[in-house]
Amino acid sequence: MSAPDLTRLRPRLPSPLHRLDDERFTRHGVQLLLKRDDTIHPDLPGNKWRKLAPNLRAAAGRPVLTFGGAYSNHLRATAAAGRLLGFSTVGVVRGDELAHRPLNPSLARCAADGMRLHFIDRSTYRRKGEPEVLDAVLAAAGVDPHTVHLVPEGGSNSLAVRGCTELGAELRGLADVVAVACGTGGTLAGLAAGLAPDQRAIGVPVLKGGFLDAETERLQRETFGARTGDWHLEDRFHCGGYARTNPALDAFAEDFTRRHGLVLEPHYVAKLLYALTTLVEEGTFPPGTRLAAVITGRPWEPVQPDSSR
Ligand SMILES: *Cc1c(COP(=O)(O)O)cnc(C)c1O
Repeated sequence: MSAPDLTRLRPRLPSPLHRLDDERFTRHGVQLLLKRDDTIHPDLPGNKWRKLAPNLRAAAGRPVLTFGGAYSNHLRATAAAGRLLGFSTVGVVRGDELAHRPLNPSLARCAADGMRLHFIDRSTYRRKGEPEVLDAVLAAAGVDPHTVHLVPEGGSNSLAVRGCTELGAELRGLADVVAVACGTGGTLAGLAAGLAPDQRAIGVPVLKGGFLDAETERLQRETFGARTGDWHLEDRFHCGGYARTNPALDAFAEDFTRRHGLVLEPHYVAKLLYALTTLVEEGTFPPGTRLAAVITGRPWEPVQPDSSR
């Protein structure tokens, strides 16, 4: 076994940075830039590439086991990486198996890519961080704990955070403020650490709960030994929680597509741009600010379940 050759997948790195003319920003003297991480790779887009790549190098061809919900972008990216690079993958999915059969399109895609799915009930899933619970889950999944490479839910560990520092480094000198939508906070943790000292980062949580400041800081302490970089969260734009939406957000996303011809990934990217449009309207950024929005992913088109079998 050896480290997979990720360059074979020809990632588009550094990802492009485009200027977008939008009167809602220019009116306030703010220059909006889109950091198109969604174009890095068709099957491992955005921060999923940046977080997985260092983990796959560390796994060095061993099986990779990771965790996610029934619509997890991270599970799909991991499964696709396994297919493309030829290592085996196991996905531990939150929720009882019966509730997930037949598989939804996202899980069906994972299975079609060769990921072995193992379902655990929600209360066990919540406790997967406890060593005894994890051991039991691995045993039940038939996985050898000594040969498997474990990647946490959402892919956020220290390797992933380090991978995301590259995102910050690519933006040095090119923006004053960089904004990103957050799930686990891993991308923000790395991004903020990779920026230059005169740049700052804004995270927009898409989940409800107010845990993300502590969690992002924990990831930074684990990775760098201390809270790192100039960053803060804008916690008003989760619209009720993950995958929740409201009419204003839906209208915003549709209008954005009409204006700019860009279809926004609904769970993260739409909320990010909605947040930035609101913040600019509120006069948050002084005229002359170069504001970069990280486009962390693109809408996912499901394949028909079982069509590939
Ligand atoms: C996974 C994901 C995120 C969240 O990244 P975290 O590092 O978990 O905060 C943001 N945007 C998109 C499109 C994603 O798929």
